[in-house]
Amino acid sequence: MAMFETVPVVDVHKDNFKEIWPSLLLSVKTSTYIAMDTELSGLGNRKSLVAKSIEDRYKSIANSAKSRSILSLGISCFKLTNVAKNGMCTDSGQEASGVPPRGEGSGGCKWRFLVQTYNITTLCEEDYVVEPGSLKFLVEHGFDFNRQYEKGVPYCRGNDKIDTKADSMSLRQLFMEILGAACPVIFHNALMDLVFLYENLYASTPPNMAAFLADLTEMFPAGIFDTKYITDFKHKMPASYLEYVFRKSLRTNKEFSLLGKKHAWVEFPTYPAGFSHITQCNCERPGTAIPSNIDKDTQDKLKATVCDSYAGHGWCSRGNSCVKSHDVDLILDIDFLAQSKKSRKRKRRRENQKTDGENEGFTEPDEEQEMDSSIANMSIVAKETSEVGESDTTKNCDIGALIPSVTIGTLKGPVVSGKHRAGFDAFMTGYIMASYVSEYGTHKDSLKLADVGLNEIKNLVYLTGKDIALSVVKSGFTKTSKDHREKFSKFSHILS
Ligand SMILES: [Zn+2]
Repeated sequence: MAMFETVPVVDVHKDNFKEIWPSLLLSVKTSTYIAMDTELSGLGNRKSLVAKSIEDRYKSIANSAKSRSILSLGISCFKLTNVAKNGMCTDSGQEASGVPPRGEGSGGCKWRFLVQTYNITTLCEEDYVVEPGSLKFLVEHGFDFNRQYEKGVPYCRGNDKIDTKADSMSLRQLFMEILGAACPVIFHNALMDLVFLYENLYASTPPNMAAFLADLTEMFPAGIFDTKYITDFKHKMPASYLEYVFRKSLRTNKEFSLLGKKHAWVEFPTYPAGFSHITQCNCERPGTAIPSNIDKDTQDKLKATVCDSYAGHGWCSRGNSCVKSHDVDLILDIDFLAQSKKSRKRKRRRENQKTDGENEGFTEPDEEQEMDSSIANMSIVAKETSEVGESDTTKNCDIGALIPSVTIGTLKGPVVSGKHRAGFDAFMTGYIMASYVSEYGTHKDSLKLADVGLNEIKNLVYLTGKDIALSVVKSGFTKTSKDHREKFSKFSHILS
């Protein structure tokens, strides 16, 4: 019984938007939760995005969102269809603090999800800034700007234009339908995506963060979940960038399903034969797993073939020209070997804090370096990627030579081209969430996320370089913004 090897992503663009619309809407409306991701034309001043003051940080991101644009939007709709209770099901792993104990109550073993993923190419019709750094990164990773200009689904930023109808098929309408579905939304590092989505597809962002947060509580009444926050503060892995956590979750689920432990299981719909808008994104491991019994010497040699920067935060300033390996599976193997020897210290993190200066120009110690690494996670230049480009693949590290007894393929990671990356990133985010749901959730009767006991991780958004999360709450002294209230009353028929 194999887990999935590829993930179908529906490519949505200007020419098929209306054709896809009914199925897209149906996916959205029947979701247990919706994972989202955006690709952006730029982020603005990197340093102000991680300002010490969270208010300043919000203002700076909001400013960027007014001048930059969304190039593509990934939406992955996860529907929990069944939780198979199994007498053989056992609990696993260690306790994480502050979350419901695993398997409490009646438990549940196989959490089955039906998943539909869409990658929508978008095109802002107003002037916007494209940052050279972002452009270079995107082109290097296969993003096709010609296709974007030619096929992007058009939209305008800020408040609705006067002549916008409340029921036309449009990107902004789709966003309202997502709000109308009133199911939880999931992001990996949510703040940037939320501000950009608000400004680009909803309304003009409020001047202060308190109002923005108040608006969010009304827009997403079922809650916002941030898988980066959950990973960093609850799950404690050696790294928390999207691809790392995804591939780690894949392994765990595979292992637990074989052992009869609680795990997440995803399925995809069968698309009709004539449906030509699907791209299958490969999830298979490119090479062979490193055996766990290799000696220390070989381990050290292997470790030396891996790019430290990429291993730590899924990003490396050298990009495709880096001579070291960016293969996340290899990185996971090495982490596993290291962990099985020592206690689970966050070794990688410490190592990266030492060597991080290579990324960008920050020189202040500690906090700045932590920020530095995390800018990578927030940035499109560094946007956590599921893709390992062609020249990342062969590198000078011949693992087969290090471990002659094992046939190792090329170090090519799963190749997901820029054409549908936001979609695949959204899927990875949703998959990580599915893992957490199966791990921490308690199934009784309901298949709703609200009923499986994850309230402690709800509405907490990851803050780069901070030890605490941003709590999405409406303060008793804060009013929601005027633009938001107007939008809400205009769409009351959807949002009821
Ligand atoms: Zn590198």
